[in-house]
Amino acid sequence: MAGPLEGRTAAISGATSGIGEATAVALGGAGAAVALAGRRKDRLEELAGRIEGEGGRALAVPTDVSDEEQARAFVQRAHDELDGIDILVNNAGVMLLGPVTGAPTDDWRTMINVNLLGLMYCTHATIPLMGEGGGGHIVNVSSTAGRHANLGAAVYNATKFGVHAFSEALRQEVLHAKIRVTILAPGFVATELQGHNTNEMVVQATEKFREQIGEVLEASDMADAILWAVTRPPRVNVNEILVRPTGQQR
Ligand code: NDP
Repeated sequence: MAGPLEGRTAAISGATSGIGEATAVALGGAGAAVALAGRRKDRLEELAGRIEGEGGRALAVPTDVSDEEQARAFVQRAHDELDGIDILVNNAGVMLLGPVTGAPTDDWRTMINVNLLGLMYCTHATIPLMGEGGGGHIVNVSSTAGRHANLGAAVYNATKFGVHAFSEALRQEVLHAKIRVTILAPGFVATELQGHNTNEMVVQATEKFREQIGEVLEASDMADAILWAVTRPPRVNVNEILVRPTGQQR
C-alpha cells in the first residue's frame, strides 16, 4: 500500500543523528523522497543507504547550514534532484549551555548561526521553490526552551524564542502561498544534543534534570509528531506541537 507521503519530497536538516535522523526514517518510510543535510558525511551516507535499502529514495547532501551558500545549495539540490520540495524540516541545532557571565562568546555565535540563521537560510531558499510547486509545509524544530527561559540557557533560550517568533510571522506571510508552518517544541529527548556541553556545572545540572524527569522522550516520538503534522489534510495547519516527557515539569 502506498504511504501517505508517496510522491512528495522532504528536506531535513540535522539528519545525522537524533530527531532529524528519526524524522528521515519516518518520512522516508511514509513514502517521501528525503534529502538529508548535516556536516557528518559518513552518517548521512549510511542513513541514505539504510532508507534506500528499505525501498525508499534518499539524497545525502553534506551541509553546514550556518553557511548561507551551503544551506541554499542543500535546498536547491533537494528540489532539483528529487523533483520538487514539499516539506522542509528545519531541525539542525546546537545547545551550548552555561551562564552569560564569562561565557565563551564563540558558543553564542555557533548557536545563533545554526539554530536561527541556518533555519532562516533554508527557509528563504525554500519559499520560492514551494511557491512554484503550489505550496508546501515548513516544520521548525524549537524547544520548550523557546517557551520558558531558565538560568544557564540564556542564549539557547534566545535562539529558540527567536524560532517561535520567526515561525509565527512566517506563517502569516506564506499562508496565501499555501505553505503551512509548524513549530515543534520538544521537552527532554535522549539524543546527542546534551553531550556537547563540557562545563561541569551544566553536565551535572543536566544529569539531575534528567533524573527528576525519569523516562525522557525518544527521537522517534518527535518523528511521529512531525509525521502526524505533515500528513493532515491541506485545510489543517498544525501551528505548534509542544511535547514533554510525562515526568517533565517545565
Ligand atoms: P542531535 O545533537 O542528535 O542532532 C543535532 C543535529 O544538528 C545533528 O544532525 C547535527 O549534525 C546537526 N547540526 C549541528 N550543527 C549543524 C550545522 N552547522 N550544519 C548542519 N547541521 C548541523 O540533537 P537533537 O536531535 O536533539 O536536536 C535536533 C533539534 O531538536 C535541535 O534543533 C535541538 O535544539 C532540538 N531540541 C532537542 C531537544 C532534546 O532534548 N534533545 C529538546 C528540544 C529541542 P552534524 O553535527 O553532523 O552537522
